[in-house]
Amino acid sequence: MIPYGRQDVSAEDIAEVVAVLQSDFLTQGPAVERFEAAVAEACGARHAVAVNSATSALHLACRALDLGPGDRLWTTPNTFVASANCALYCGASVDFVDIDARTLNLSVDVLADKLDKAERDGRLPKFVVPVHFAGQPCDMAAIADLARRYGFRVVEDASHAIGARYRGEPVGTGRHADITVFSFHPVKIVTTGEGGVAATPDAALAERMRLLRSHGITRDAARMASASPGPWYYEQVELGYNYRMTDIQAALGASQMRRLDTFLERRRTLAARYDRLLAGLPLQLPHQEAWAASAWHLYVVQLADGARVTRDESFARLREAGIGVNVHYIPVHTQPWYRRLGFDWGQFPVAEAYYRRALSLPLYPGLGEAEQDQVVEALRRLLS
Ligand SMILES: *Cc1c(COP(=O)(O)O)cnc(C)c1O
Repeated sequence: MIPYGRQDVSAEDIAEVVAVLQSDFLTQGPAVERFEAAVAEACGARHAVAVNSATSALHLACRALDLGPGDRLWTTPNTFVASANCALYCGASVDFVDIDARTLNLSVDVLADKLDKAERDGRLPKFVVPVHFAGQPCDMAAIADLARRYGFRVVEDASHAIGARYRGEPVGTGRHADITVFSFHPVKIVTTGEGGVAATPDAALAERMRLLRSHGITRDAARMASASPGPWYYEQVELGYNYRMTDIQAALGASQMRRLDTFLERRRTLAARYDRLLAGLPLQLPHQEAWAASAWHLYVVQLADGARVTRDESFARLREAGIGVNVHYIPVHTQPWYRRLGFDWGQFPVAEAYYRRALSLPLYPGLGEAEQDQVVEALRRLLS
């Protein structure tokens, strides 16, 4: 089976991990600092805080910006559940903004209309979480304009988008967001096994997230409630978590980060090749805005209305042919957990219509051209 995504682990990556296993630090230590510096450098971020997953990073972002009961967080339905769950962890409520049918990202027009109505109803969100779906950046300048006008915080979920560029700058500078979150799960562009980073231009926010990732415990005398009686002493000053990344994971990540440009280049080349080879089939191919350079985490096609087969049939037949297609995403609001909160099918029709036609094709740096040709051939047989 050709998978839809696969990590690329080199002999050098393995050597770096082994070196950590033979060193003094297994949990958060010098390799985490090296990894954070590598991510900050690549993404133009002033501060990068590494944690054990992007889910944890989203939670810390919400905590650091004081999301709590009575507050509202809005995100896109076309995402992984973690983009929304972070609000529920904090006792806040969630609502969704339907997507743009071309970019498949949260629609800025729908967001503007929804904000206008929410202002009249006195139900404005405190947070908006745009997700750079498939690695394609959202229109962050437009979202930041709305954030200034309506007074909400912006946490970018860039789990798909390390190395993507928005209007010439890397995603992660924080020019248009308070915090940017990256994932290092093995299907993502760079991996640490499990891992996440929260990047921010704000030193105080970074410090608060560092405190929260490690139980809310400090050894810094300046932050303590009482004078330190001795070097053993620490104080818990916030309710934090154990969200630390290990040095074992960070060594893998720091080594992988050296190949970020190679990974991105290969993904771009394969995506352009799909564009060429699939042209003419009854498929809607990925759309790219002129001002966005995707990181190509996913290559998603949509079955055209007149296609001979449904998405469900295509999925089954391609899997039978050894092509590991996947579907991103089941709209979050249709999950049983969210339906229990009052959401249902029909509420975000563009995301729902997209979901019914979507197929993610295999895309990862180790995908060979012969394998890619096999994917294209299987699609051609199916559709023509
Ligand atoms: C993968 C992913 C996450 C969660 O990342 P983890 O590191 O697995 O916790 C969150 N949001 C999006 C959009 C993702 O794709």
